Formats: sequence, structure tokens, C-alpha cells
Amino acid sequence: MIGTFDYVRVSSIEEGCELLTANGGNAAALAGGTDLLVNVRNTGRSPDLLVDFKDIKQMNRLVIEEGNGATIGACVPLNVIADNTVINDRYTALAAAARSVGSYQVRNRATLGGNIANASPAADTAPALLVLGASVNVTGKNGTRKIPIQELFTRVKKTSLKEAEVITDIVLPSVSRTRSAFIKKQRVKGHDLAIINMAASYDADAGKVRVAIGSCAVTPILLPEFSLSPDERVDSLIERANDIAQEMISPIDDVRASAEYRRALVPVLLHDLIWGVLSPGGGAR
Ligand SMILES: Cc1cc2nc3c(=O)[nH]c(=O)nc-3n(C[C@H](O)[C@H](O)[C@H](O)COP(=O)(O)OP(=O)(O)OC[C@H]3O[C@@H](n4cnc5c(N)ncnc54)[C@H](O)[C@@H]3O)c2cc1C
Repeated sequence: MIGTFDYVRVSSIEEGCELLTANGGNAAALAGGTDLLVNVRNTGRSPDLLVDFKDIKQMNRLVIEEGNGATIGACVPLNVIADNTVINDRYTALAAAARSVGSYQVRNRATLGGNIANASPAADTAPALLVLGASVNVTGKNGTRKIPIQELFTRVKKTSLKEAEVITDIVLPSVSRTRSAFIKKQRVKGHDLAIINMAASYDADAGKVRVAIGSCAVTPILLPEFSLSPDERVDSLIERANDIAQEMISPIDDVRASAEYRRALVPVLLHDLIWGVLSPGGGAR
């Protein structure tokens, strides 16, 4: 049995924020509804008011400017991101992460903004956005501000968004010689959240490697950046990354896997990802 709620489809960000503000904690932003409405159905509890932002032009744009990075509206569906050739080419981890979410039908509704605002530790796009150095633009009653993605996730399903604040865009910095990749280990392909998801990026100009891990702690985790010295073997870098990852993660036993299995998967996925971004085709098992 689904609870009752009022529904308003707004045509501007300001109108939406005013409605959220006027209804205090009893209203919620609605995008694709693939988390929110499933949750309402499962719990039988709903906010009094759902404010639908999906019609707002600014929140549906995907703009890629040479030298200026990419701006992706919070309501852009994941399939649009997964199919965009420039995102696939320059921000490969994000395209792959978007493509790994649920099923084709879910991805037609599910949005990038909803995936990160929902703040599940298993959100697939989160590790990709973390290694790509993304930030989010948010708007609320006190105007707009920018939040680095690593400051967005605070606890399980909690963010640093203030009451009545919405994410309007996700901003990716410009990249020149950066390669990135995403891996997800799941029980069944499609329709399943990650046992672990992980992303890595390699900035060939700076010689830096970034790794982020999801589903292994209360929030997705960004490891400290690694410098790759010319005389270090890749396997030694992977070992360093694993030592740090094992310190930082705190996996739990749940229906998808045991904590022990998650810990054991970390070095395996690190091996494939780091070899993948440093030397595509190298390090094959
Ligand atoms: C069958 C199925 C399979 C799934 N598989 C996966 C999976 O493999 N991987 C994965 O990561 N997820 C998965 N999901 C979860 C879900 O599809 C994604 O998290 C999706 O991206 C959520 O986006 P949405 O637009 O539907 O968000 P909504 O459900 O509309 O919103 C989710 C939450 O975010 C808030 N919100 C939405 N937009 C904004 C905004 N712009 N600003 C502030 N707050 C906002 C809402 O108030 C709500 O709390 C699955 C869901 C289903 C039903």
C-alpha cells in the first residue's frame, strides 16, 4: 500500500526550492523516483509533498566545453550519460558506472543527481565522480554553492545538503591525458546493487592515480592520491593501495556478501583497475 502525498511538477529551480522550504522536512525533491517511490512503497511512509524537478531545462542539460570540463544537470537520466560518446571517451569511469545501474528501463528514469543525493554507500556513480574530481552545484533558500563530491556523502543515505537544498548540476573538471575505469562486482548482472564497486583514474601529466571504493563503508571512500614514481613497479603500487584501502574500509556482512569476502575482493579489483588505467591490456591474469 503506497502512502498518500501531494505532487507538484515545477518549472523553475526557485519555485521548487520555495515549495521545499515552505514545507520544511515534510517535502522531498523527486527526480526519476527509482529510489524515492520504491522506498515509499516499501515503507508505506511518504513525505507530504513530492516536488518534481524533472521538467527543468537547466537540470536536463549535458554541456561539454573544450577546456572547461562537463556540466551534467542533476536530472539527466543515466542512459543519456552512458550513451554519450564524449563522456565515454574522457570520463570513461562515469559512463561505465552509469551503464552498470539496474536495468535499461531503470536507467531511463534514474538520474545522476538522484543517485548521489540518495547517498547509498553502493551508489555506482559515486566512486567514478570521486576519482574524476567532480563537484556539485546546489541551490537552496540562501542561494547557490558548490560542494566537492567528497564532502557530499556524510553517512549512510545522508548528505551535507541543507534542508530544502537541491543539486542542480554535477561538474566535471577538464581532463587532457586522464584515463579512468570502473568495476562492479555484483551477485547478478542487472537489478542488483554492488557487493563492491570501485573506480580509478590516472592523470598521465601529473603521474597521479586516484582510487575510490563503494559498498565497503558508510560512505563511498576516496583513497589519498598516489604518485607513481618512474622506478616503481605497478604491483608495488597496487600493494600500497591495498594496504591503505584495508585501513580505510569497514565493510559489513549483509545479504549481498560477507565483510571478509569484500575485503578479499579489494586487491583483486585494485589489480584489474590500476593495470587497466595505467596500461590498458597490461597485467592480464
Ligand atoms: C530495480 C532497481 C535497480 C537498481 N539498481 C541500482 C544499481 O545497480 N546501482 C545503483 O547505484 N542504484 C540502483 N538503483 C537505485 C536507483 O535507481 C538509483 O540510485 C537512481 O540513480 C536514483 O535516481 P532517481 O532519479 O530515480 O532518484 P529519486 O528516486 O527521484 O530520488 C532519490 C533521492 O534523492 C533525492 N533527490 C533526487 N534528486 C535530487 C536533487 N536534484 N537534489 C537533491 N535531492 C535529490 C530524492 O529526494 C530522494 O531522496 C536501482 C533501483 C531499482 C528500482
